[in-house]
Amino acid sequence: MPQGSLYQIQKLILNAAYYYIISFAKNIFEKQAYIFSMDTNRILIFSSSRAGDGGYLEMAVPVIKTFLAGRALNIAFIPFASVDNNYEAYAEMVRLAFNELPYTITTVLPENAKIVVEKADAIMVGGGNTFKLLHDIYDCQLLDIIRDKVNKATPYIGWSAGANITAPGIGTTNDMPVVAPKSFNALGLLPFQINPHYNNVIPTNHNGETRDQRLQEFMQMNPGLPIVALPEGTYLQLEANLLVFKGDYEGTLFYRDEKDALTKRTIIAGEDLSFLL
Ligand code: ASP
Repeated sequence: MPQGSLYQIQKLILNAAYYYIISFAKNIFEKQAYIFSMDTNRILIFSSSRAGDGGYLEMAVPVIKTFLAGRALNIAFIPFASVDNNYEAYAEMVRLAFNELPYTITTVLPENAKIVVEKADAIMVGGGNTFKLLHDIYDCQLLDIIRDKVNKATPYIGWSAGANITAPGIGTTNDMPVVAPKSFNALGLLPFQINPHYNNVIPTNHNGETRDQRLQEFMQMNPGLPIVALPEGTYLQLEANLLVFKGDYEGTLFYRDEKDALTKRTIIAGEDLSFLL
């Protein structure tokens, strides 16, 4: 074989080996990065801002204090679920609830949204109308920014509508679609759906769908997605890949069993739900 051809073949083999090694390393790196980001996700989501006849965020504040380890943090508060657009009044109510704690709570407004969220040590998203909240998040191009930050260990705290948007989509909200968001796809920080303010009370002579029927309809149309239904006074906490259901009441998990039948079961306070991740 002529010297030149031998050289060409050697070069080809070396190139192939080089590309194989690079893509193998890249693959491992990407997997590591993914696992790392999941490990660091810190999410605390409440069914509601009030529990029973308690005051505004009364039940949530001590939990949030422990979650954030009492440190002085800059928190970006997203008030877009409010339909009256009086964002400063909403944020004031939140600041008042936290006035004993060392947080600086900055209101995220449409004109400063990206910068305030980007600079924040923690993100807090309040309740109201879920469609309006997601609509404005899309409008302000915040969806990817929030998701990226939370995937890089910025704590996320939300209640009601702010809890709904941590799911892959908002199809299990109790709200009416008062405005059309660009998409029903939400942050997808958790791989299952949330139903806040959950109860399945059926008034006498009521002929409309029950809450459970509505949630089961969602599961019929979206087969792969379980739903964690959170009664008021309960919450989910995710830290170090450990997802726990907490609070004063029992919750409900809607899922498909081994035979693919729509099923629901009670979840109890303190229960480890990490198998849903
Ligand atoms: N409207 C609720 C809230 O944010 C959300 C819901 O019920 O889905 O308070």
